[in-house]
Amino acid sequence: MTFSFLSLELKQREADGLLRQRRVLQSPQSALVRVDGEDILSFCSNDYLGLANHPALVQAACEGAQRFGVGSGASHLVTGHSAAHHELEQRLAEFTGLPAALLFSTGYMANLGVITALLGRNDALFADKLNHASLNDAALLSRAMMMRYPHANLAVLERQLAASTARRKLVVSDAVFSMDGDIAPVPELLALCEKYDAWLLLDDAHGFGVLGKTGRGVLEHYPLLITHSPSRLIYMATLGKAAGVFGAFVAGAPELIAWLVQAARSYIYTTATPPMLAAALLESLRVIAAETWRRERLVELVDVLRHGLKLQHWQLMPSDTPIQPLLIGSSQEAVRVSESLCQRGILVPAIRPPTVPEGTARLRITLSAAHSVADVQQLVNALHELEIE
Ligand SMILES: *Cc1c(COP(=O)(O)O)cnc(C)c1O
Repeated sequence: MTFSFLSLELKQREADGLLRQRRVLQSPQSALVRVDGEDILSFCSNDYLGLANHPALVQAACEGAQRFGVGSGASHLVTGHSAAHHELEQRLAEFTGLPAALLFSTGYMANLGVITALLGRNDALFADKLNHASLNDAALLSRAMMMRYPHANLAVLERQLAASTARRKLVVSDAVFSMDGDIAPVPELLALCEKYDAWLLLDDAHGFGVLGKTGRGVLEHYPLLITHSPSRLIYMATLGKAAGVFGAFVAGAPELIAWLVQAARSYIYTTATPPMLAAALLESLRVIAAETWRRERLVELVDVLRHGLKLQHWQLMPSDTPIQPLLIGSSQEAVRVSESLCQRGILVPAIRPPTVPEGTARLRITLSAAHSVADVQQLVNALHELEIE
């Protein structure tokens, strides 16, 4: 068997405007990035706070490498769990206000680990239709019955919960939806979990560091979570987005975390992340809490974009977060607009099916505290010019 059928599939994808391409970055992540020898204004990273190249984090990583080396050398349960990892877990628990936290290598692995450790064949998982792919993959791998409810539709979720006879029930939701930028109705989700005796897993990949005055994410956006819920809340967040480094963690009740250490296969059967990254993340937590201006800048930039953009055909979707999708509709049109922006020195990715539903191709504009007001103004002006063409 040869691979020639793959060439046909690739050609079809290209014809459908669905072929994905990688750009080679020659600079650190920033507002201006160097691609193919040219500086280009980027609105497509998840480096929301501009920390990926923050000098204090870079220095902490270097010192971490000097102290611990570059590799962890083993999994956490063998000899890969360093003092830096251990301290970071304690600080993450303090930072989130939850009893305990466990580091994972990536968010994808955290979601796989948690869901497969908690659910099996006789259990049920209830998922928002717009949840991140890693949550869906985890659900399949767990073999639990998976029910998806229309985006943020609490009435359908309640009907599904009420009808379920599963042994264990887990409601799963992005806290900030990654392709839409809206925030999940968490107090209502939690109330339903209490009423039907379910757990709630919140994936705060895009809220951690960004939401709340001190960056504690959705837990600070909806303060009731802290006062009210560790008993059924499973909080997950990633550390490679606003936190600027790499990795992820899960936080919640002590017995939950103790169980994950025993049973989360994506925690057990993998090499621990380099301790130097944990050292950088300890510095990142300090900067996230201390440099409140970064979140204030984000709020200002969202405002400049939303008030500045007056387009006839394309619409910004409702969102208060740094994820500001511009709905275009067809994949080909979205690619065309993205390419035209690129010719003007502005990078905004076209997000197409199957990442988003058919007919809702969009430009996913993401803002960062590394941007200036003038940067956002430049994007607004370019979009106005493009719509007239
Ligand atoms: C990015 C993301 C993940 C995966 O995190 P990684 O650390 O990149 O693997 C999981 N969930 C959501 C909602 C994400 O946006």
